[in-house]
Amino acid sequence: MALNRSRVDVLCVPQDIDLSPASDSWDDALVRWSADGLVCADRPTAQFIGGGAKGIRLDHPTGRVVYGNQLGGFHVTCPSCGAGLARAFASAMEASRQDTRSSPVATVRCPRCDTATPLPEVDARPPIQIGRCAVVFVDVGGVELTDRGREAVEELLGPFAVIFRRTS
Ligand SMILES: [Zn+2]
Repeated sequence: MALNRSRVDVLCVPQDIDLSPASDSWDDALVRWSADGLVCADRPTAQFIGGGAKGIRLDHPTGRVVYGNQLGGFHVTCPSCGAGLARAFASAMEASRQDTRSSPVATVRCPRCDTATPLPEVDARPPIQIGRCAVVFVDVGGVELTDRGREAVEELLGPFAVIFRRTS
């Protein structure tokens, strides 16, 4: 992970792919985290994430997006036969960007074995998570959230996945 000039962001993405916290609950969380020593001068401290980070923000795109690695990308494969699903995955994602909880779950159909896999259940290496929001730890010193850090994020997002994003 120590490539020259690359940095690592740690993203906490809700397991609920349609969850998006209200902006005032994010502001409240920042105030609480500052009071608790998890954030100091807008930077997460080592009490939040090992080694601290250069910044923290809530990403909230207008629709569902794929959170995953950027530098070097990621590979999506069929959980049934292992075939590559890059193209089918991309079009299923595009088609369901504006879906909501009430939409039928979008599936990805494997071009080799014809298995239809629900979009969030395709295999991905390194792991990805589809979502409408993420708590982003920018340019981290280490990648492990502390126990207190995990609890703090879970209070805001509910159960969440941790995604590493290496960027240039
Ligand atoms: Zn397949």
